[in-house]
Amino acid sequence: MSPAKGEGTYNVVVIGGGTAGLVTAAATAALGGRVALVERGRMGGDCLNTGCVPSKALISSARLAAQIRRAPEWGLDPMEPRFDLGRVLESMRERRARIAPHDSQERFESLGVDVVRAHARFLSPHEVQAGGLRLRARNFVIATGSRPAIPPIEGLAGAGPHTSETIFDDLRERPDSLLVLGGGPIGCELGQAFARLGVAVTIVQRAARILEKEDEDAAAVVRRRMEADGVRVLTAAQARAVSRQGARVRVAVQTGEGREETLEAAALLVAAGRAPNTGDLGLDAAGVAHDAKGIRVDACLRTSRPHIYAATISRMWPTSTRAPSSATSCCRGRRRGRSRPSCPGAPTPRPRWRTSGSTRRRPAPGGSPTTCGPARSATWTAPWSSVRKRAS
Ligand SMILES: Cc1cc2nc3c(=O)[nH]c(=O)nc-3n(C[C@H](O)[C@H](O)[C@H](O)COP(=O)(O)OP(=O)(O)OC[C@H]3O[C@@H](n4cnc5c(N)ncnc54)[C@H](O)[C@@H]3O)c2cc1C
Repeated sequence: MSPAKGEGTYNVVVIGGGTAGLVTAAATAALGGRVALVERGRMGGDCLNTGCVPSKALISSARLAAQIRRAPEWGLDPMEPRFDLGRVLESMRERRARIAPHDSQERFESLGVDVVRAHARFLSPHEVQAGGLRLRARNFVIATGSRPAIPPIEGLAGAGPHTSETIFDDLRERPDSLLVLGGGPIGCELGQAFARLGVAVTIVQRAARILEKEDEDAAAVVRRRMEADGVRVLTAAQARAVSRQGARVRVAVQTGEGREETLEAAALLVAAGRAPNTGDLGLDAAGVAHDAKGIRVDACLRTSRPHIYAATISRMWPTSTRAPSSATSCCRGRRRGRSRPSCPGAPTPRPRWRTSGSTRRRPAPGGSPTTCGPARSATWTAPWSSVRKRAS
């Protein structure tokens, strides 16, 4: 008879029930290992609840609206899509709810995983406190993910901004206008989606261009498309102060040309980077080396304690759902000498493009102790002008 939940020693205790944690727990159970998964919030983590799933559901509605506006390109009469944004948002939440059972506690328990719904904290390198349970294991996988970072801008935190963690649940009706702080993948994809759904969107990007981590020519194509969708894009622009005036939010911005401009909108979305969820995890009690940017890992995602892995946001992995899954397969393949797998990326503003291996902006890693040698996949690059583009 197998021991009761929390008793004995597990093969693996996984902390975090997002993509990385779920994949790790399911794979360990499938291999016959005894595994516990600890999740303090919603099962499914960022991807299901506040990331890929709701954003892609919203984006699919927005894309359809944009296509309807371009009806004459398909030989149809010109037309304007008719919709209520409140109902579009409701449909996004319904679609998310239909997917949720795949990541549920019940499903993972049916796979043989002991699921514990609590905050987990290391008591020692071999023991984790999770609610009333003390979980002992031979190996641990930290899969605690990240959260939106709130930059230190005067008045911002008190102005009640949305982040990706709140906007999909809290927004119930159409704001006439939306200011987005941050022109990375999340700011761009959500800004474009809301613009296509009839909201006047302005993106304030501190860097000289949007999608800074992507190749310049690809980002320029996306910027043109976003502007054609009605998004106002301010680059090299610094948000200096934020204030709320009743239902409106105001952001004082210094533009790239050095002018001061005050932007006003009904809603504000902060998409200005991510911070790792490593606080209050007891990493010092576990002896796991870490800093403000995340946990230090080697090529096989081992931390400074070789029996503790970090298959989540770490210095060497880009933030994408595929990163943790690639990370997990990397751990599984380590005995066969595999190194860092090529982690595909697919930023989602339109038009869409995909990357695999290194890009000009993200060359293959090598050299520093927190990276893990060149990706093994060959990298093929071509000028953007030669790429066949399908607009949508
Ligand atoms: C708007 C948006 C759109 C995105 N779109 C895409 C996309 O299209 N494609 C893509 O590949 N990626 C996308 N991403 C990124 C993707 O969502 C994340 O990279 C991925 O979900 C990270 O998975 P994870 O398992 O590492 O972390 P998470 O999903 O964040 O899971 C971590 C879990 O750990 C739990 N946790 C944290 N600390 C503790 C603790 N001490 N004890 C117990 N539990 C704890 C948290 O509650 C959370 O559930 C998007 C992200 C956002 C925000």
